[in-house]
Amino acid sequence: MDGTPEKIYSVAVDGPSGAGKSTLAMALAAELHILYVDTGAIYRTIGCCARRQGVDAADAQAVIALLPQINIEMRYDAQGLQHMLLNGEDVTAEIRLPEISLYASAVSAIPEVRSFLLEMQRDFARKASVIMDGRDIGTVVLPNADVKIFLQADVEIRARRREKELCERGTPRPFAQVLQEMRERDYNDTHRAAAPLRPAEDAVVVDTSYLDFQQSKEKLLEIIKEKVGI
Ligand code: C5P
Repeated sequence: MDGTPEKIYSVAVDGPSGAGKSTLAMALAAELHILYVDTGAIYRTIGCCARRQGVDAADAQAVIALLPQINIEMRYDAQGLQHMLLNGEDVTAEIRLPEISLYASAVSAIPEVRSFLLEMQRDFARKASVIMDGRDIGTVVLPNADVKIFLQADVEIRARRREKELCERGTPRPFAQVLQEMRERDYNDTHRAAAPLRPAEDAVVVDTSYLDFQQSKEKLLEIIKEKVGI
């Protein structure tokens, strides 16, 4: 110990759903001993609230009217898993229901929802080293991130991965439906006016279509270590 404070750094991981962002970011956070923040879970929590209140997620005014009543908190359990609390209630399992995905995608297109969540996300990176995944982390949330990675993969391969994941979670869906919903979310996420999904100019683009988990993890680790100098 030379008394030099440990360097705080941030890693932004963006990309479409099913590209491997959360699995990889979680594993990298554990390996690097830094915080993992899954920002999709925050949008899912707002989507979950809209669904519970019977609000049409495409009705921007109705969703905006919900915001003052929403209190979102994040907690980490002993295993380091991120839990989402909606007005004090743990909704971690509920936000993973497949029907919440489309709610999350619709509410996330509303600029007021995005600005409502912006400071909360930035705050994590002020306090500690983080790896944060989402759609606009490198472009909007952390434009000065030390490392920006944009993960992508072929849509059919992403849909297969999601189909497997849903099956393992006990909520199986037919492949055709998973693929159609994934295309719909890709379209929504890339065509919205507010913070559309796109690689930041200084992002390193990594295609995981033909990389397994270990290969993807090693590739990302190499990029992070080189950029951060650790
Ligand atoms: O990553 P995940 O699939 O859980 O995200 C759910 C939805 O939340 C995405 O389809 C996307 O529309 C939205 N989202 C977003 N910006 C983020 C993270 C997620 O718009 N930073």
